[in-house]
Amino acid sequence: MTLLGRAVESRSSRALPLLIRSHLLQTLSGPLTPIVVVLLMAVVLLRSELVRQASRIAIAVTAAATVLLLLRCLMIPLLRHGAEEAADPSPRMVLFGLAAVASSACWGIICLCILALEHDPVLYALSLVATCGIAGAVAARNPAFPRIALLQMLANLLPALVGCVLADDTGYRALMLIIPLLFVGLSVVVVERHRQLVGLMLAQNEMKRLAHTDSLTGLPNRRRLDEAQTEEWRRAARTGAPLSLLLLDADRFKSYNDLYGHRKGDQVLIAIAGVLPVAAQRAGDLSARQGGEEFAVLLPGVEQPAAVAMAERLRAAVQALAIPHAGNEAGVVTVSIGVACRRPAAGQPVTELFETADRALYRAKDAGRNRVEE
Ligand code: GH3
Ligand code: MG
Ligand code: MG
Repeated sequence: MTLLGRAVESRSSRALPLLIRSHLLQTLSGPLTPIVVVLLMAVVLLRSELVRQASRIAIAVTAAATVLLLLRCLMIPLLRHGAEEAADPSPRMVLFGLAAVASSACWGIICLCILALEHDPVLYALSLVATCGIAGAVAARNPAFPRIALLQMLANLLPALVGCVLADDTGYRALMLIIPLLFVGLSVVVVERHRQLVGLMLAQNEMKRLAHTDSLTGLPNRRRLDEAQTEEWRRAARTGAPLSLLLLDADRFKSYNDLYGHRKGDQVLIAIAGVLPVAAQRAGDLSARQGGEEFAVLLPGVEQPAAVAMAERLRAAVQALAIPHAGNEAGVVTVSIGVACRRPAAGQPVTELFETADRALYRAKDAGRNRVEE
């Protein structure tokens, strides 16, 4: 499961916002906007007297802006990958945030220099369009990180605002009003898009969780078990590790329903589900409701003797619940368990594990129930 999936399941208040942001990095892909903005800025700089006269400051700021922009674009796939791999992706996030804000600030400073030091109205217009374009692109693409986006826009638009005051064309002073309005409007876009993205993602995760959960017991359902079985089977085939499966079936359960009612039967299924963690304790273990009165426990890396011992502990734990069942030989609710263990070879079908455990379960039923067979 992904880090995000784990965080959503554990509802960890610290991890969740951070990981949502990592996940939403996907919204940051696409190199088109930075390319257009860099081209526009290149035109501005080629026309600029400052650069033509090889002003050291102008060249240094331009180089820094370009390097930071490229760095930030290169960091996106790295960050996305890191969010899944690293236990705590926050240091990379901080680095990404710093690069993003510094890059926006550099473009803002270029605009400030052009407005304050040049005397060319075409340059003024081009550099302002590029700067406002950067702010718009940030608002459209970075709502996964609303704080970084707001800081970026501020770092970008504030120098442009100062530049408008210093420009020798008085018409640009009117922009003192328009630029703050632009900032406020774009901020609303960032915040609203962030809210929508988070809501959408949480809803998707909740739907996924529900699709994989049995509503009566809260255990993973058959669909999740099938997925996990295929996943673990492939992993075991790669690593040469064993994979064990326990199939549990409540004994004489039809009779239990007939004697005590369906509702009480449901409570028994919930009680049996509560016992399964006795066997499935390690991180990769999975206990699931297979359907009806049948359950399954998937145990990666567990050899046959250990799997049989776990099954026996499970069987004893269900019997120890001591739920009266007059229609069952033991007088209480019991389960029969079939155990299978395989070291899959490449190309071997995953169904083999299940079929072996199922045959063992039938043998346990035939041999008198309330027992483990392998
Ligand atoms: P065996 O010992 O051979 O397994 O006998 P059994 O009666 O348990 O097996 P059978 O397959 O004949 O009956 C299974 C019963 O499980 C029938 C059905 O009423 C009951 N059952 C299946 N799902 C549920 C459920 O969600 N709630 C309740 N209360 N009963 C269920
Ligand atoms: Mg059954
Ligand atoms: Mg049964």
